[in-house]
Amino acid sequence: MLDYIIVGFGLAGLSFSEQLQKNDKSFLVISEEDKSSSVVAGGMYNPVILKRFTSPWNAIPQLEYAIPFYSEIEQRLNVRVNNPLAVLRVFNAIEEQNNWLIASDKPNLSSFLSTSFEKNNNEHILADNDFGVVEKAGRIQVAKLLSACRLELLKNNSYKNEVFDFDSLNINGDSISYKGLKAKNIVFCEGFGLKSNPYFNYLPLNGTKGEVLIIKAESLKLDSIVKSGVFIIPIEEEDCYLVGATYHWTDKAWGTTEDAKLELIKKLDTVLSCDYQIVNQLAGIRPTVKDRRPLVGQHPEYKNMFVLNGLGTRGVMVAPTVSSELFNYIENKITLDVEIDIERFSSEYNRG
Ligand SMILES: Cc1cc2nc3c(=O)[nH]c(=O)nc-3n(C[C@H](O)[C@H](O)[C@H](O)COP(=O)(O)OP(=O)(O)OC[C@H]3O[C@@H](n4cnc5c(N)ncnc54)[C@H](O)[C@@H]3O)c2cc1C
Repeated sequence: MLDYIIVGFGLAGLSFSEQLQKNDKSFLVISEEDKSSSVVAGGMYNPVILKRFTSPWNAIPQLEYAIPFYSEIEQRLNVRVNNPLAVLRVFNAIEEQNNWLIASDKPNLSSFLSTSFEKNNNEHILADNDFGVVEKAGRIQVAKLLSACRLELLKNNSYKNEVFDFDSLNINGDSISYKGLKAKNIVFCEGFGLKSNPYFNYLPLNGTKGEVLIIKAESLKLDSIVKSGVFIIPIEEEDCYLVGATYHWTDKAWGTTEDAKLELIKKLDTVLSCDYQIVNQLAGIRPTVKDRRPLVGQHPEYKNMFVLNGLGTRGVMVAPTVSSELFNYIENKITLDVEIDIERFSSEYNRG
C-alpha cells in the first residue's frame, strides 16, 4: 500500500511531493498538464506589495523557508531554477519616494527596501524619478522546476499523466483505492481544477485569470526586474522578457485573449521606448480565495482525504511552507494555523 496519492502537479503538488520524499513516504502523483497556473507563472518571489509598499502575509518566514527549499531541489537534480534578481520600482512621482522611505523603516520591510534610490541608466526605460530597489527578490523558473521534478518521478514510476477519475475512487475507512492502487491518504493539489472536485468544491475558490506576454527586445539589456504598470522580468531566452500580468475575475476560460494582450501592450508602452516583438502569450487561472489565504486541511467527513490549494498570486513563496504545515498536520498531528485551515469554511460544507 502507498502512503499517499497526490492529485495535481503544480507548485502545490510538487511541494507536497518534496515533503514526502524528504520523509521517505511512498507516493504516486496523478496529474494532467494542460491546465496549470504554475506553468505560466512569472515565478517571481517578491517580499513587498509594490502598489502600497506593504508586506504580504507571512512573507519573511515564507521566504526563509522557500529559498533553501528550492536550492535543495537544485542540488539534488543538478538544475538551476532560482535567479535572484533585484526589483526596480519606477516612481511615478516624488511623493512615492517619501512613501517608500517611510515604509523602509518598518521592521517587516526594512531588510527588503533599499533606502538609496537607483538612477535610471537605461535609455529604453522611461523613469524620470529613479527607482526604488527591492532586495532579496528573484524568479523561480517554475516550468523548468516542474519538468525536472516530473522527470525524476517518472523515472521512479511515481508519476502518471492522466486526468483523475473520481468515479474510480473508493474510500474505505482507513485507506483509499483507485484503479487497483491502495493508499493511506489522498491529497488534492488541483489549483483551479478544484472546482470539479466533488469532495472539495464547496470551498470558496474564486480563481483570477492572468495573462502574460513574452517579448523579445534586443536593445533593452535589462538584468533586473522592472515594475511600473506591469512587471518586466528578464527570462532565460536571450533578450527575452516576461511582461505581466493581467487580473480578470469573471473570465474562467484558459485561453489567451486579445483584450489582455492590448492591455499589456498599453501598459508596457508607458515604460518602454525601444522596439520589441511579441513572441508568445500565455494564460492561466490563479487559485485565489475570497479571504486571500490558502486552503489546507482535512476533509470534514473523510479523514484520509486532504487539500492543498488557494496559493493565490504568490504560489512560489507560499507553497513550500504550507506543504510542510500540511505534512506535519497529517503525520505529526501538529495543528494547522487557523488562517489556512479549511475548517474556517466548515459552515459552507454543512450548508451544501
Ligand atoms: C499569469 C500568472 C502569473 C503568475 N505569476 C506569479 C508569480 O510571478 N509568482 C508567484 O508566486 N505566483 C504567480 N502566479 C500564481 C501561481 O501560478 C499560483 O499561485 C500557483 O502556481 C498555483 O499552483 P497550484 O499547484 O495550486 O495550481 P496549478 O499550478 O494550477 O496546478 C494544478 C495542477 O493540477 C492539475 N489538475 C487539476 N485537476 C486535475 C484532475 N482532476 N486530474 C489530474 N490533474 C489535475 C492541473 O492540470 C495542474 O497541472 C501567477 C499566475 C498566473 C496565472
